[in-house]
Amino acid sequence: MRETVCALHRELVRNNLVAWTAGNVSGRVPGEDLFVIKPSGVPYDDLTPEAMVVCDLEGNLVEGAFSPSSDTAAHAYVYRHMPEVNGVVHTHSTYASAWAARGEPIPCVLTAMADEFGGEIPVGPFALIGSDDIGKGIVAVLESHRSPAVLMRNHGVFTIGDSPEAAVKAAVMCEDVARTVHLSRQLGEPLPIPQDDIDHLYSRYQHVYGQRSQR
Ligand SMILES: [Zn+2]
Repeated sequence: MRETVCALHRELVRNNLVAWTAGNVSGRVPGEDLFVIKPSGVPYDDLTPEAMVVCDLEGNLVEGAFSPSSDTAAHAYVYRHMPEVNGVVHTHSTYASAWAARGEPIPCVLTAMADEFGGEIPVGPFALIGSDDIGKGIVAVLESHRSPAVLMRNHGVFTIGDSPEAAVKAAVMCEDVARTVHLSRQLGEPLPIPQDDIDHLYSRYQHVYGQRSQR
């Protein structure tokens, strides 16, 4: 899991989701009440599997030479309250954070959004770092949406997945649709997709699309 989480941070860089050290990936350790997360303030180029830190589900450091990411409490809260989640990603990716700054959900106006998010990408509350408020906001919103991504108001993106890879994919897709819908808005009002069609697309993509072994 240290190797997986370390390697996935390179995907944040490769997909232009992060500036400096402002983004992090975590992954639940299978069968344990533990997760692996990025150390705080370490540049992405310097990350190694050994530099990753292991925390318990209260966010306490269990193993590692560095202190854990400053977003560890939010990741820990999600793992405590959503047992089906095995990966969490946080970024301040540009276009998605621009929607978050307006406190506006990204409307479901692309079939790729219906596939991946099953509807709009919702907005979570404004919350300050340093307590469980961010985690509470993430869980409250994502428990009642199909979307694996939430835009935390005035802040950025949190995504979840049944693996750390799935959470990274959701973060990449979130930024992609945030950009496209923003551009569409510059040209006029994007056309909504009827709910029945969103439901059909979501169901097909989640259950039929892709290689059988990857479902
Ligand atoms: Zn942040």
